Amino acid sequence: MQAQIDRIVIVGGGTAGWMAAAALSTVLRGRYRIQLVESDEIGIVGVGEATIPMIQRFNRVIGLDENEFLRETRGSFKLGIEFVNWGRLGERYMHGFGRLGQDLWTVPFEQYWHRMRALGRALPLENYSITRMAAKANKFMPPRTDIGNSPLADIAYAYHFDASLYARHLRRLSEARGVQRTEGKITHATRRGEGAHAGHIDAVVLESGERVEGDLFIDCSGFRGLLIEQTLQTGFEDWTHWLPCDRALAVPCESVAPLTPYTRSTAHRAGWQWRIPLQHRIGNGHVYCSRYTSDDEAASTLLAHLDGKPLADPRPIRFRTGMRRLAWNENVVAIGLASGFLEPLESTSIHLIQSAVQQLIDFFPDRGFSATDIAEFNRSNRFHYERIRDFIILHYHLNQRDDSAFWRDCAHMTVPDTLQEKLALYGSHGRVVRRDNELFAEVGWVQVMEGQNLTPQRHHPLADLQSEQDTHDYMEGVRDVIAKCVDVMPDHADYIAQHCAAPT
Ligand code: FAD
Repeated sequence: MQAQIDRIVIVGGGTAGWMAAAALSTVLRGRYRIQLVESDEIGIVGVGEATIPMIQRFNRVIGLDENEFLRETRGSFKLGIEFVNWGRLGERYMHGFGRLGQDLWTVPFEQYWHRMRALGRALPLENYSITRMAAKANKFMPPRTDIGNSPLADIAYAYHFDASLYARHLRRLSEARGVQRTEGKITHATRRGEGAHAGHIDAVVLESGERVEGDLFIDCSGFRGLLIEQTLQTGFEDWTHWLPCDRALAVPCESVAPLTPYTRSTAHRAGWQWRIPLQHRIGNGHVYCSRYTSDDEAASTLLAHLDGKPLADPRPIRFRTGMRRLAWNENVVAIGLASGFLEPLESTSIHLIQSAVQQLIDFFPDRGFSATDIAEFNRSNRFHYERIRDFIILHYHLNQRDDSAFWRDCAHMTVPDTLQEKLALYGSHGRVVRRDNELFAEVGWVQVMEGQNLTPQRHHPLADLQSEQDTHDYMEGVRDVIAKCVDVMPDHADYIAQHCAAPT
């Protein structure tokens, strides 16, 4: 029998640190000592304001009330992401959450759509998705689970929120559940010299000289990776040859009506710009590649594409895309930016924090620190990172823009084999295979591939089993029901005003 560990030290109090603290203090129920060290002087990255639907699960586990959470973080609802200028200049499409149409018997809905489109008898794909049609009409409501088989029972959504207010909210909750916060700058870590766990970190040392000792260290120190990299030198796998953007400029601007229930991503000449509407402001940022544009040019592009008056000067952020070779090394588990970075095109970083915290709970160690468990944690973490990486590369690679070297180079780059397989499979018969529990479902891939003009050569043969007219009528029925459902949904801004408006 291995003894239990006793002391958990979380290094860093950004979104990752406080999400880890909130989840662990909830799940571990006061049986372990949890201490979080952060430095106000260093501060947090503070961007990271758009999410995906899985965050609802995280918030439920830690016991957040949705309306209170949105009031506190001045948040809004998100039904998907609108992509502008990604396939070709002037084009737009949406990656909406939730499903497409309604599956009929053996093949997915999009296979009937492929068939009818080839016959010139299908409307654009968005007509068959309730979240896309609701987003387009600026409408929102949570699913009505009491009404059974209706698209209204099946509305998938996520949130936009102010990242620093979210961290503050989680801090209050964690401290109330026993997490002890220590303010101070860590200068270095010390390691065990001998014994069973020689090499394990045994303490972090603050500028004041204080030592914070622990058995398990969670490195949430951001890009610097204070423990995982600076102390343990774990190594970083660089993916900039696939995802070459390396800088961002972030700036909030004044809100403008309507309050849109979706994130917008607009592709520019050497990158793209996010637009995240909150209740009190719009968050904007330009993610770009410094090899193809200057910082000044990137700033003017950003400012030229704001919907409202800027509320601050653009704030520069530098990053490198890739992941740590190991997220769990010795007795250190890196979570958040300390474990790697994928640009926020599909709002996946906060989800990666959530999924790493979940895996840490699944593989929670005792003093034995089982090598087999740690290896499985690392395998699973890598799998998630790589599959999300492929999905993000897809957006860059599948473009037909000819207006800049950046887009031409992205279109011509060699992509990972795992992505090439997905492209080939879709290009042939419109099929998408979701491997294991990879994050993005078939419908996500279909929407982006179609939105960026990849049309399969043929459709699934079984989509031909019913007559053309029956298929047409069935699809018209789906479209009609969705349109009627959207008609009765409330306006997004009205829904917020009624349920979760932040005090002005
Ligand atoms: P940080 O916020 O950097 O926190 C690091 C913490 O470590 C701080 O508390 C700091 O004080 C502490 N620390 C560091 N060194 C020391 C030291 N020596 N001593 C004491 N304390 C120390 N994610 C999404 O899901 N959606 C998005 O829309 C999104 N947009 C993004 C846009 C950009 C441009 C970037 C760069 C990221 C975006 N992300 C997004 C990612 C998201 O911002 C991060 O995942 C999230 O903020 C987590 O950051 P973190 O807590 O790991 O690091």
